[in-house]
Amino acid sequence: MSGPRTVAILVAAGVGVRAGGDTPKQYRSIAGKPMIRWSLEALSGHEAIARVVAVISPEHAALFEAAASGLHKVETTFGGAERTASVRAGFDRVGPDAEIVLIHDAARPGMEPHTIDALILALQTADGAAPAMAMADALKQVDAAGSVLPVKDRASFRRVQTPQAFRAAAFGRALAIVPRDAVFDDDLALAGAAGLSCVLVAGSHRLMKATYPEDFTVLERMLEPPRMPLVGSGFDAHRFGPGEYVTLCGIRIPHSAGLIGHSDADAAWHALTDALLGAIGAGDIGDHFPPSDPQWRGAASEIFLVKAADLVRQRGGKIANVDLTLMCERPKIKPHREAMRGRTAEVLGLPLARVSVKATTTEGLGFLGRDEGLAAQASVCVLAPWEADDV
Ligand code: MG
Repeated sequence: MSGPRTVAILVAAGVGVRAGGDTPKQYRSIAGKPMIRWSLEALSGHEAIARVVAVISPEHAALFEAAASGLHKVETTFGGAERTASVRAGFDRVGPDAEIVLIHDAARPGMEPHTIDALILALQTADGAAPAMAMADALKQVDAAGSVLPVKDRASFRRVQTPQAFRAAAFGRALAIVPRDAVFDDDLALAGAAGLSCVLVAGSHRLMKATYPEDFTVLERMLEPPRMPLVGSGFDAHRFGPGEYVTLCGIRIPHSAGLIGHSDADAAWHALTDALLGAIGAGDIGDHFPPSDPQWRGAASEIFLVKAADLVRQRGGKIANVDLTLMCERPKIKPHREAMRGRTAEVLGLPLARVSVKATTTEGLGFLGRDEGLAAQASVCVLAPWEADDV
């Protein structure tokens, strides 16, 4: 590896009381993974970074272990009550062989590699560097009563983010100079108090900090990978035979006939299973559950549907909606439609509004019109990552 030896400190010992919720905010799921994991992946995945020291609370050790599972370069140390104490603990853990330390807050999950590159580059001419944004809003100061006071031109103000990078030796001197109990808003303030030269590089909206509950919604939208809609369709028909009920969408519907099939002959869920498999190019129901395999004799079709939904998830897909059409003269579908929707929504983990069940006849035409059986047609929309898995 070329370049100066860089070690990252990820500050994550806080309890995040302003964000609400039972789980500390840095461990709450955002866009599919614990917030802290976004930063752990970005830091440990950067080729310039040799180690990542996460400063955590001892009470969160189990949460951290789960959030960091499978990641390399990551180690932990325990933090203090205040952020500055946690930074000291992290720096102690870094040790003497680092040339650059990069200090980042776990509450900023949107870090991108180019920010790290810019910070490291900036340290060629300064002791410290941080990403920052100009003010878009007007800036005002208020007194204790909330009255607006005059303020200088906002053009000279910046909103400073993390990660903040320092030449390790200079930052070590700064920590030695400032009083041990001094508390700073950020590490740039600490460095400035000790006389270090610091510069700013371009920050980004993605680096916003999750502080208040509404921040999570904004961050979620920014972090969600771009998705494309994949459409799938399925069709199935089963012949009527002896019996007293048919099973459609997992609901047992009393009827003067049953449906003949290898499994429970749930044509609706068979069509839906095929539609899901079709959306992700994963073959059809017969490939995954061959009729020649005796283990599927009389099987509940929920098994097939759950498997197809699992395959969608494994490929990073999310089911947006499903739309089913039942085609038969009898039995009447309408009285059972809401139960069929509800059960399908439950099995797929979808809101009811994203599941549609419709019914039609063929006006007496064809095998359906002659009441020889029933058929089902399904359409689905799956939202999948733009980058298709190579499978
Ligand atoms: Mg079938």
